[in-house]
Amino acid sequence: MKYLSSILIGFYLTSAGAASFCTNYELPNNYLKMKSETEKSIDAFANNKVIAAQADGILSKLITAKSPFVTSWYAKGNFKGKSEEDVAKSWRQYFARSFLLMKYPQGDAKIDAEIEKLVDGLLQSNFNKSFKDQMNKNFSTAKILAVQTINEMNLPQNKVIIAKINSIKLYWPEHLKTARNKAIPLDLIDWGIAYDPLSNEINIGLNSLSYSNDETIMAVFAHEIGHAFDPCRWGAFFEGPWPFEKVGQCLRSSSSVGAKKRDDSKLEAFGKAGKLTPELVAALKANPTCNKQAYPPKGIQADQLPETFADWFSAEVISHYKELDISKLRPDLCDESTLVEGSSYPTNRLRQEKIYYSQPKLKSLLKDSTENSYCALK
Ligand SMILES: [Zn+2]
Repeated sequence: MKYLSSILIGFYLTSAGAASFCTNYELPNNYLKMKSETEKSIDAFANNKVIAAQADGILSKLITAKSPFVTSWYAKGNFKGKSEEDVAKSWRQYFARSFLLMKYPQGDAKIDAEIEKLVDGLLQSNFNKSFKDQMNKNFSTAKILAVQTINEMNLPQNKVIIAKINSIKLYWPEHLKTARNKAIPLDLIDWGIAYDPLSNEINIGLNSLSYSNDETIMAVFAHEIGHAFDPCRWGAFFEGPWPFEKVGQCLRSSSSVGAKKRDDSKLEAFGKAGKLTPELVAALKANPTCNKQAYPPKGIQADQLPETFADWFSAEVISHYKELDISKLRPDLCDESTLVEGSSYPTNRLRQEKIYYSQPKLKSLLKDSTENSYCALK
């Protein structure tokens, strides 16, 4: 679920040098509305009869068993002076978010039905026709521009890459019960936009409402399209050496974003301790730029080449968009929240300045004459 951390929306605005439009950045209203309504819906879910009965029953069992888990939850909660009812409500919220919405199905038909009702309701109310139309339109344009971009690159593998791009589809989850990513309902609610290599589809989640305009949505789709042939996926789906090797080396350098390599220092130990299967250890070793769910875990450096390459490709693609208003491009990268340690992304500021704003056409639109850190293809 590395993609989850890609959507770290905050309110930290900045003016990161001359070529930044960050001071104008505001999250779209429909996104903010979705976030607050989602919170309200989860609160209501946690307090509905079926869910509250389950939560309360478990709490009293844990209290009877003098569970250290509940003692520590209570100690952290700062409940001094609060009524029993308030404590119970907090517990229900915690229980809903940390347990019931973290695993589906739960195995209890009544509870599963409530979880389905919650998630389906949120999907249906937010993925309305006008939003879907806007996303579909921008996805089509992003694909056309991506094909054009690859054509101009004249790579030995042009044909296969273009065939791959043309076959990418969007995946809109509609019902939890049938959704591909249903195992963790809270993740389904919290998804942004993420490429799924196995189905060759781009998963759309509710956080996609955070992208405020056509330029940005197109650029985000172009980024996801880039993941179809990033250094991690290349070996599994294409023949021959990765044709963007020179770009990759440049993205690794300090003149560009300095994309970090995956830290494999714990790999053997994890394997020996049985935390990773021998197959996974072998697969990780064979694919040094791939980040898997089991490795590297939070806190250990993930490889940053796939994400920075996807940004690089996105910048190439969006530079082909004739009506581009550069001031609207990816204001989401204005968010300066701290990344999790070992993140597969460099900072947003680096992504914006060293990748997007360094692309020659975008740079000329910015009338930016500072030193160039652009990574050229050849
Ligand atoms: Zn990405």
